[in-house]
Amino acid sequence: MNSALLTIDDFSSKNTPAIVDYLKEKDIKVIFFAAGQNVERFYEEALYAVKNGMIVGNHSYSHPAFSSLTMEECIEEIEKCENVLDQLYHDGGAERIFRPFRFPYGDKGGGNKENLQKYLKEKGFHKVDDRHISYPFWKENGLDRDVDTFWTFDFAEYNMHMNPDFTRESVWERMHDTDPETGASLFGENNRHILLLHAHDETEEMLPEYYKLFIEHLLENGLTFDEPRFL
Ligand SMILES: [Zn+2]
Repeated sequence: MNSALLTIDDFSSKNTPAIVDYLKEKDIKVIFFAAGQNVERFYEEALYAVKNGMIVGNHSYSHPAFSSLTMEECIEEIEKCENVLDQLYHDGGAERIFRPFRFPYGDKGGGNKENLQKYLKEKGFHKVDDRHISYPFWKENGLDRDVDTFWTFDFAEYNMHMNPDFTRESVWERMHDTDPETGASLFGENNRHILLLHAHDETEEMLPEYYKLFIEHLLENGLTFDEPRFL
């Protein structure tokens, strides 16, 4: 049986409440990764998520590529988002128990990588429990040791609003690719995954309720969803 933890990046957006309602209806627990500036822009929508018990992690404030920043700028990006999320949980009357972190674009900071990992550890960011992820690339790339949350499968659906050649069918092909260039195949035997989806209104405009279509497809193919767990 295949199972997966679903993560949804670039929170929040206009469609956040609808996504939250759908996840609750299906009883699927996820981690949202927030860009601080998106939370400020769609604050009511973000509040709706925390009031409904969603876990929201830090995905930086303005979503830069961390390898293009100095260490000080990296820290500023992380702390600025932390402040926004602390305020959000406070305003939502919810306790902020878990603080996972994901780098924008999965860019771990180039020359600052080791220092950033140390920083995340010292600041008490929570590592997602990945002990069940057994793909060789996970260990080979040190992802089993890193504090930030990487992924094993990216729907890459954001390409739909950037590249006219990338369509809904392209997402379907990715889902059924048995030998992907990066990550791991979605429907192999006993595969365990960390899935990456995005909360982009631009995708919603092109393909209404895209998240529902993808999630239903996973469920139809026998995939079950893991609850977020932390080490
Ligand atoms: Zn992102």
